Amino acid sequence: FQEELKRLKDSANLEAVTKDGHHVDLFGNIGKSKDADHALTMGAQGIGLYRTEFLYMENDELPTEDVQFEEYKKVAEVMHGNPVIIRTMDIGGDKELKCLDLPEEMNPFLGYRAIRISLNRPDIFKVQLRALLRASAFGDIHIMYPMIASVEEVKAANEMLDECKEELIAEGVAFNTDIKVGIMIEVPAAAVISQILAKYVDFFSIGTNDLCQYTLAVDRMNEAIGNLYQPLHPAVLRLIKHVIDASHDQGKFTGMCGELAGDPVATMILLGLGLDEFSMTASSIPLIKSILRSVTKAECEELAQKALSMDTAEEITAYAKSVLAEKG
Ligand code: PEP
Ligand code: MG
Repeated sequence: FQEELKRLKDSANLEAVTKDGHHVDLFGNIGKSKDADHALTMGAQGIGLYRTEFLYMENDELPTEDVQFEEYKKVAEVMHGNPVIIRTMDIGGDKELKCLDLPEEMNPFLGYRAIRISLNRPDIFKVQLRALLRASAFGDIHIMYPMIASVEEVKAANEMLDECKEELIAEGVAFNTDIKVGIMIEVPAAAVISQILAKYVDFFSIGTNDLCQYTLAVDRMNEAIGNLYQPLHPAVLRLIKHVIDASHDQGKFTGMCGELAGDPVATMILLGLGLDEFSMTASSIPLIKSILRSVTKAECEELAQKALSMDTAEEITAYAKSVLAEKG
């Protein structure tokens, strides 16, 4: 156990860099502020996804601005000035909330959820935005909106953010006036119009869990059709490439915080497509880092090109697995 811990700590200090010197950001996904320490121990150089919905799911009442501020500040401080991407409330859909009476729906995943609730309930959303802004005085907090499907949604969310900034200025409360704001790319429409969306944001983070479910029309929870849930499907791969290229064309960065980012079979393909940041469950970080450190960007680009020329997810997966196996 002690030896294992030492090994992990040693690997945590190693840079996530390829053999030909290409650095990528290897970040952790967390659901609670107290998970940040563990992510750091496992080698996370930042937080790529802080899912804040637990704050809303746990209690009978909506979390206050001060409660949220303390949570976000804690993570910002633990991460010592490294980026902390905090996603605004991704509630609704299938997530039951005691603190909010949400309607029953025929298709919860296509329904009233995430940014759609936020924009409809400024009274709840602005409490979170104010807490995030206040916490931004204590570290490098980035704000990220979930389930974006259109430019109007980004603009409306940013208008509320601007209102919060003005309020805090009037109150004399400190915050980072240059705070970065990005969006999740998890709805196919957003991926398709990523060239347009890139003009309005500082970064993208691809949510492959939902992107895959919506693109392939396959419920991510339904085991009966689990074989159809293929994150390396040629359609998903093309969307991922399109999003990364769109962001780079406009000098923005793209991360990934869906499960695919922590899947060793996908690492070389994603690196080859130019993904800038990989964010995953903390326990996956050492393995993904060891893969990144044993390959070159150039060979990954070649592999990604070849994967894009293939016809099926099965072929792509088998090919990526065989290359990985050769690496040992
Ligand atoms: C995703 O959809 O890939 C994602 C990271 O969000 P969540 O899993 O929380 O829906
Ligand atoms: Mg999602």
